[in-house]
Amino acid sequence: MPVTPVALAHADDLADFIAASPSSYHAASEVARRLEDAGFTRLDESQPWPAQSGGRFVVVRDGAAIAWVVPTDAAATTPTQVFGAHTDSPGFKLKPQPTTGSKGWLQAAVEIYGGPLLNSWLDRELRLAGRLALADGRVVLADTGALLRLPQLAIHLDRGANSGLELDKQFQTQPVWGLGDPTSADLLAELAASADVDAADIRGYDVVVADSARGAVFGKDDAFFAAGRLDDLASVHAGLVALSSFEAAADGPIAVLAAFDHEELGSASRSGAAGPFLEDVLERVYAHLGADSSQRRQAYASSWCLSSDVGHSVHPNYIAKHDPVVQPVLGSGPILKINANQRYATDAVGAAAWSAWCERAGIASQEFVSNNTVPCGSTIGPITATRLGLRTVDVGIPILSMHSARELAGVADLHDLTRVAEAFFRG
Ligand code: ZN
Repeated sequence: MPVTPVALAHADDLADFIAASPSSYHAASEVARRLEDAGFTRLDESQPWPAQSGGRFVVVRDGAAIAWVVPTDAAATTPTQVFGAHTDSPGFKLKPQPTTGSKGWLQAAVEIYGGPLLNSWLDRELRLAGRLALADGRVVLADTGALLRLPQLAIHLDRGANSGLELDKQFQTQPVWGLGDPTSADLLAELAASADVDAADIRGYDVVVADSARGAVFGKDDAFFAAGRLDDLASVHAGLVALSSFEAAADGPIAVLAAFDHEELGSASRSGAAGPFLEDVLERVYAHLGADSSQRRQAYASSWCLSSDVGHSVHPNYIAKHDPVVQPVLGSGPILKINANQRYATDAVGAAAWSAWCERAGIASQEFVSNNTVPCGSTIGPITATRLGLRTVDVGIPILSMHSARELAGVADLHDLTRVAEAFFRG
């Protein structure tokens, strides 16, 4: 069945969002920029916050952003609907003293961030992006555009490449970015120039490598969408689109988008789901609504977290890797993720709530469960559920090539995820 024009427009907007979000810091900033354009007020955690009733707010902490819409009649025990996702993706991060090279090549010294499919990063035009901390205390975003490449060794020099290519994680992952003598070049100057600052003023940096190619729709009936960082910007974008036009109903819940950093590393940071960011925001929101800690917990007890992250579509070339029966596929709807060992937080009550939200949104959904011989991944859902005690459901869209530099999703699923996020925010 052909995808709808509105789903194609959604995929095109996602391509814009991903292009503007090469690092978690860019993604958090782009979330705030788009929401400010939609009438949200950006708050500063180090300042007092205004009255919350009827407000639309966003706050950024490092590479994470939390945004929320409060009904005008919100009270101390009004529940919250939190749509959770993450802003980071596996790849590479710039090391200290990053300008290296030999034999006439300039190279960048990088560490591996999370668990990327290393081979997928070969032979692509890559960019450097992230944040620079300056001598005067400012923190600025930098994005070089296409600058680097990790060139694969020619088949003539490695006849065994097609029977299993293994990259040395140190010596064979250092991209080239120019020609010349590394002792008279400065990679940080490229970043500084892109941010319009002086390289001598850089005192610290958090900079990652990202694919420079724009996301694209293709395939029969425009079924497919490929881009870098679909894990998990597809979810961040779905929640962002749903929240930016969301109008809180009288007697409705507080709608929250929580886009955390560092999920690929286990979420343990001040901007990760295992850190206090969401709790800090909710405590302040409820304090402004006059809630004491007992009333806040009363509100939490009737709140939900919809934790959205990508999951595995069945792969036609590797059917044995999947559950023999439960086999979600691209284009047939978002997935409900289930795991007996609580790698996903979904339980019976959550599954029923998910099916009600999907029904209200008018979308189909699928289930995901792992093959028993393949270890299951995890995500922010169980962490949020454990920290705050919110009832949590793990969902997402099915993709192929997870953790590749360029992943593959279904156009229809991307838009359906936004529709169910809207239904979820209504409670
Ligand atoms: Zn993810």
